[in-house]
Amino acid sequence: MTLNSRQSTRLAQLGITRWVRRDLPVSAQPVPHTPPTDDDPASAATAASAMDWDALSAAVTGCTACPLHQGRHHAVVGVGHREADWMIIGEAPGEQEDLQGEPFVGRAGLLLNNMLAAVGLSRETVYIANVIKCRPPGNRDPRDDEIAACIGYLERQIELIRPTLILIVGRVAAQTLLATDAPVGRMRGRVHHYGEHRIPVVVTYHPAYLLRRPVEKAKSWADLKLALAQMGAR
Ligand code: URA
Repeated sequence: MTLNSRQSTRLAQLGITRWVRRDLPVSAQPVPHTPPTDDDPASAATAASAMDWDALSAAVTGCTACPLHQGRHHAVVGVGHREADWMIIGEAPGEQEDLQGEPFVGRAGLLLNNMLAAVGLSRETVYIANVIKCRPPGNRDPRDDEIAACIGYLERQIELIRPTLILIVGRVAAQTLLATDAPVGRMRGRVHHYGEHRIPVVVTYHPAYLLRRPVEKAKSWADLKLALAQMGAR
């Protein structure tokens, strides 16, 4: 089977060198790996599991695994320190994030910066990423198929960073990573764990929600203190 150029690129991103038997014509060569196709979003997510940072960034930036790529200005990979202790995970880029190619740079981002500063952190010392890398139109909630197409990228980011603590902001990220349909109000206030390495997770309200409901900021402050305590307890 002959690979098309996109398939060859994906193999290269995975660090897989195609084995070539020199005594056979190319058309008769064995195929060691079935590369992902754009028709199969789940395999695009699976492919991310072997990528290094450069391959991951290139894959996200060029991703066409779901229709959201059609309307984007930028795919938003993430920002911050790649060896951060704290990883902050939100939902999806909004308008400003799509335009600037960086997560949490709009009004909600300013509040997130302030929340981080309140516990002595900054955008440079944590790593910030979203479940979805491209903006859903009109900032609607990401659909399940879009999350399925994209989640492999976030899973790989978590694996590469292997943070000491994950702070999840908002319902979509919390429900996705903790595989539940519980509301944030029932998830916040205690420590969860994520993945085979059982990374401690604290859930809090999304800063965009806090902008609409400032009265809830006290609960978010309590969640941040819980996260700090968890870091101290390790
Ligand atoms: N909301 C999010 O969840 N992520 C962003 O990057 C911006 C707004």
